[in-house]
Amino acid sequence: MDEPTLRVMSLHALAYCERLFYLEEVEELRVADERVFAGRTLHEQLAEEGELIELTLEDEQLGLRGRVDALRRRDGQLIPYEHKRGRCRDEGAAKAAWPSDRLQLGAYALLLERATGRPIPEGRVRYHKDNTLVRVPIDEALRAEVVAAVERARALSHATTRPPVTSDERRCGRCSLAPVCLPEETRKAADPDYAASRLFPADDERQTLHVLGHGTRIGREGERLKVTPLEGGATAHPIETVRAVVLHAYASVSAQALHLCADHGVAVHWFTGGGRYMGSFLADDLAVQRRIRQYEALRAPGFQLQLARRLVTARIEGQLRFLLRSSRGGEARPAGLESSLDGMRASLGAVSRADNPATLLGLEGQAAAAYFAGLPHVLSAEVDPALAPIGRSRRPPRDPFNAMLSFGYALLLREVVQAIRGVGLDAAFGFYHRPRSAAPPLALDLIELFRVPCVDMAVVAAVNRRQFDPVADFSRAGEQVWLSDTGRRKLIEVFERRLADTYKHPVLDYSLSYRRQIELEVRLLEKEWSGEPGLFARARIR
Ligand code: SF4
Repeated sequence: MDEPTLRVMSLHALAYCERLFYLEEVEELRVADERVFAGRTLHEQLAEEGELIELTLEDEQLGLRGRVDALRRRDGQLIPYEHKRGRCRDEGAAKAAWPSDRLQLGAYALLLERATGRPIPEGRVRYHKDNTLVRVPIDEALRAEVVAAVERARALSHATTRPPVTSDERRCGRCSLAPVCLPEETRKAADPDYAASRLFPADDERQTLHVLGHGTRIGREGERLKVTPLEGGATAHPIETVRAVVLHAYASVSAQALHLCADHGVAVHWFTGGGRYMGSFLADDLAVQRRIRQYEALRAPGFQLQLARRLVTARIEGQLRFLLRSSRGGEARPAGLESSLDGMRASLGAVSRADNPATLLGLEGQAAAAYFAGLPHVLSAEVDPALAPIGRSRRPPRDPFNAMLSFGYALLLREVVQAIRGVGLDAAFGFYHRPRSAAPPLALDLIELFRVPCVDMAVVAAVNRRQFDPVADFSRAGEQVWLSDTGRRKLIEVFERRLADTYKHPVLDYSLSYRRQIELEVRLLEKEWSGEPGLFARARIR
């Protein structure tokens, strides 16, 4: 089978960092950040000024294709030019090109030689920030470097494992893929004393568009989503400000709007009228290598159990810490709460000895029963008794508190599914929950880390603030209790606010929103089977 030619730009990435090459060219991960956009703008400006003669070249024998920024004739010789926004490499008195720029220029020179049949003795790089022109001789050493780079790139293209992170930390600070590569977290996992920096935004500023009205129409108006409720009063949302659309009612989405969402990686999610998460639409990211790694790793029962133990430990510790911190104060704890805490401590102590998933499930169940028995004690004395929970009832919820938890967990499940798919893992292939319910097992696994901080704590705080009305915010059918329309709106607001709250990771020692924390845990989980383990499920509430 013929191999496709490599982009010359990919050799530039290869010379910068082999992992960057792998992420961009093999896994096809690209994050267009400010520097990339700045680079495009530079090229557009040059084109406008007429300085640029772009020339596209491809050669199967060399295995390369690419577009030279400019080609000029000097003293009868053809000279390829590259334009770079940054500064040149300062070597004292001498000004030099960066190794990745040299390699890129060498590759263009070889392509030109094969296309024209004429030798190319020199290339030039213009660094615009310091307005310096650097001449690069196209000698035998550089030719050999280009050939070796193509061979190395080919070898990497056939691998399913990612190359290690670069040893030059400074490169990561300038790398557009740092938010998905997480090099600092890899260094921290290898060395607990390493002080990791956060190389990605602390929050995602885009909004989640919740649509609650029956009959609402969602259409496309240029690059915006137009939301038209049945009663009128349309609103328009620029697509770059939207991270997800969540439909809670019978709303219609036009094909054009779906197309726009797919183009911009915006997920569309559906809920039933009863508040159950049904499924999602998200343009496919094939993520072949990521899924192969996931399947291979999670087929090993011992590995699954090891991850599951960590997950259950984190879950029970989270529940325990929440009850403890909510009952801190001068007064003695009620006997009922003490007995809940004792029950949870006993389950927690046995988790590390669990040698099969069934035992683990049993311990988790016992701890959950103790936790929910203790939960009413963290509600303020002023809360209407009608809003206090009576144990945990799921399908259906039998009291208002459980109705809020169930809907909150459904909202959280959606968020977790979106994070898993965004990272490129298969939500259907987990390590703890079995594939027997409608929800994807890996999402059910990961949601365990966030039930307490993202839903339980937020619901308890909202109830203690008396944000919910036990009559107007709920509807009842026999023994079943559901959130009313106003109740759902309130809970969505409580949940979205909570996701935007900032949290300081106790091991990584940097702050980020809970929304980003969910994505971070998915990426840390992936590192568990990518040769960079140790940080998954280490976060705890304080
Ligand atoms: S963040 Fe660092 S290690 Fe990761 S791809 Fe970029 S340069 Fe390489």
